[in-house]
Amino acid sequence: MNKISVTCAKCSDEYWKKREGRPYTGEIGDSQENGVFLVPAYKCYNDKEQLAIIDFVCPKGHKTKNILEVHVPKIGTEGWENRIIGAMQRHEILFYLGINSLIDFYYREAIVNFSSSLERFFEFAIMVIAEIKEIESDALSQAWKLVENQPERQYGAFIFAWLLLEKGNYTAINPNELRKITEIRNNSVHKGRIASENDCIKYGTYVADIIKVIDTILYEKYNNHYMSYRMKYHKEAVTKCKEEKINLITTAIPCSLGAAISNGFDHAVAVARAYRDSILNTPDALS
Ligand SMILES: [Zn+2]
Repeated sequence: MNKISVTCAKCSDEYWKKREGRPYTGEIGDSQENGVFLVPAYKCYNDKEQLAIIDFVCPKGHKTKNILEVHVPKIGTEGWENRIIGAMQRHEILFYLGINSLIDFYYREAIVNFSSSLERFFEFAIMVIAEIKEIESDALSQAWKLVENQPERQYGAFIFAWLLLEKGNYTAINPNELRKITEIRNNSVHKGRIASENDCIKYGTYVADIIKVIDTILYEKYNNHYMSYRMKYHKEAVTKCKEEKINLITTAIPCSLGAAISNGFDHAVAVARAYRDSILNTPDALS
């Protein structure tokens, strides 16, 4: 199911007033009442604002801007870890779309999504490293323009940026093994091979494992810079909405990549399935 849940600021406000502060119990069936609606997943990233921000209209005609936040699902698929790390990044959304393509048996599409997720993650890591090294944004965007249409160049840039930062290789996987896994992707994307479920799981697991090592180091060792980059576009959007008096609200959807990193690829699939079940009876937004 290629849909995600968003919240209408006004409907949600009315709902909470009606509840008079009684805690939400999470019961299925009152989703329309609580202002939660579904929009197609392709809407979940706004390239212009470089943010997981969705403009939508609820069935009552209220316009809302909705920022999708990252909540890392707890082990066991129940509840959330108390770790909100800002708006979802492009690589996290692509990974989420990959997991959903896998659940829907679109294995080739899943591999393409996982592959794009990894490519955008390398971009994200380069941007965080630039933040750590206090690179001026103009200099950074000039340099990025030279590689922006070539993922292979971006990958090369990342390898050496990481080497200079951490004085080591970004992965312990040997080059032969890396080549074999990359072949799964190349066979699907370039040679038209019809991928199997096994190919898809193997490739998705590889992508999550690669990201896990790098993301954990950046998050734990360089937390200020990591958060500062993550929140950059988020803060800009919040300020702009306040100035223009636009309804802005945040909604959390399970972060498939966070689930895969915290407890493995199978867990990410289980979390995505649980989320899909939980929104099954949620009405669609108007547009
Ligand atoms: Zn509404």
